[in-house]
Amino acid sequence: MIQETISYKKKNLNNKILKIFILFFICFIIIFLKLVYVDLMKSSELKSMAETQWFENGKVIKAKRGTIYDINGNILAISILRYKLILNKNLVKDFDETIEKILKKLNINKDELIKKINYGPSQVVLLEDIKESEIENYKDLVDDEIYFESYYKRVYPYGNLASYLLGTMGVDKGLEGIEFQFDSYLKGEDGIMGFLKDANGKEIPGSEFIIKKPKDGKDLYLTIDINLQGALEEELEKTFKEYNPRIVIGIIENVKTGEIVSIGTIPNFDPNSLKEFSKATYPDPSYGFNYEPGSSFKPLVASAALEEDLIKEDEKFYCKGYTVVDNKTFKCFSKHGEQTFKDLLKNSCNICYIEVGKRLGEKLYYYLKLFGVGEEIELDFPYEGKGDILEPDDWSATTLPTMSFGVGITVTPLQQTSFYQTIANGGNRLKPQIIKKITDNGKVIYESKPILIKKVISKQTADKVLSFLDYVVNGGGVKSAIISGYSIGGKTGTAGVIENGKYKEGLSVLWFVGIVTAKNPEYVITVVVDGIESQDVFAAGIAAPTFRRIAQFLINYYGIEKDEKIKWNFEKLWL
Ligand SMILES: [Zn+2]
Repeated sequence: MIQETISYKKKNLNNKILKIFILFFICFIIIFLKLVYVDLMKSSELKSMAETQWFENGKVIKAKRGTIYDINGNILAISILRYKLILNKNLVKDFDETIEKILKKLNINKDELIKKINYGPSQVVLLEDIKESEIENYKDLVDDEIYFESYYKRVYPYGNLASYLLGTMGVDKGLEGIEFQFDSYLKGEDGIMGFLKDANGKEIPGSEFIIKKPKDGKDLYLTIDINLQGALEEELEKTFKEYNPRIVIGIIENVKTGEIVSIGTIPNFDPNSLKEFSKATYPDPSYGFNYEPGSSFKPLVASAALEEDLIKEDEKFYCKGYTVVDNKTFKCFSKHGEQTFKDLLKNSCNICYIEVGKRLGEKLYYYLKLFGVGEEIELDFPYEGKGDILEPDDWSATTLPTMSFGVGITVTPLQQTSFYQTIANGGNRLKPQIIKKITDNGKVIYESKPILIKKVISKQTADKVLSFLDYVVNGGGVKSAIISGYSIGGKTGTAGVIENGKYKEGLSVLWFVGIVTAKNPEYVITVVVDGIESQDVFAAGIAAPTFRRIAQFLINYYGIEKDEKIKWNFEKLWL
């Protein structure tokens, strides 16, 4: 019995425990389900409601735009923090009182202020370009309706220098040049700031918190050397002032790397002012304009003829002062008489180059294509010109003869620079480059290296043409390009100005493309004088001296040693 009683009690107790346990378990399940519901179902709704509120009222935290440097780390374009003093006219209680308050403190014309308030946007900018250190001066103006807003101002410390290359900034994005083309790298990502509001919908002071951090833009290092760029533009400007052409263009390319160390057009503009920007001619003429190269094109024709072995070593050419092709008479600058092949280039004899072109026939077209005529260089720029070349099927009887001396064909100044780079680098056509490296928060994410596009001609041919270019200058063909102790190689060109497919009467384009130096090629320098009034003007008198002044600076700047002791390797070069 006792046993039974104990057993009954125990059972009873077990049942009670079980009941309590089940009760707890049910409570737990209910609480758990409730939690799951709030967490999973409701929270996304709550979160989105909250976010909607923050986004609606959130402030944009502007990302800092990346800095543009030259190859040595000199700042070419930078964004600096500035403040605007803003009046929100929707929050003004008493306009007369507010206007009086503003006029007392700021040097603003009353009529203009009233006009801005009446007709402008709801946020009236009272003052901008305020430095952080100057904020204190305006603090007593600040209240509900007047406040500061920070922004980044784009500054170009070198003003007009390299302005075409850099482009400029619109309100929030790059316009033209590097600023435009590399906008996606430079701009970064804006962040978002949230804040709490009181029951009246007003921001609670000090309640700001970051919803999304801004990500600053990437920094660009260009291949440009700003000191050299300065010298280049100064010399171009001298020529511009003295001869009054439409524009003067200059380009310097490193023969061994393809890096563009300077590129400029005069007249230029100051990218710090949008008003100034309206003066600019875009696309950038140095890579966007097509020009007839004239005789500065002959080294390409000579390269093709030598590569194809169409010229005999001891061959003499004869110029009687004119030739007739398809009933059209072509005249030479003078009756050159008997000449060797290298003399054809020095004398710039059109008549004999017509003969060289005739030997090449359609092959000339294919060599010119190898050099890159009629193709974009893809220099990471928009609106790049590519020049015009007719395909052999479209040639008339005079196309080949005129093409042989650089007429009826067009190239951009940058293409022309690249053709000479190819000749100066043993026939290796490298991609011209303008970006040296890109960094993200100091970490290098891109670094340029030389890119071989094509092997155009053999080293032997290239060196032979180089020696011709040396002979053109130092053999007395272009005395105005001679620099004592240096084997400067180069070629002049004079052509007509083409506008809307027609020659513009009375205007010429003058070229000089030179190599520093023919015996030790390091740099190609191209000078183009566009739209000069063509009464007795010659490239040798204007473009070549401009080249020489730029080359002289470059030689001093880089400390390039004299190469008068270097001799041509005549073993392989017949001259
Ligand atoms: Zn001739």
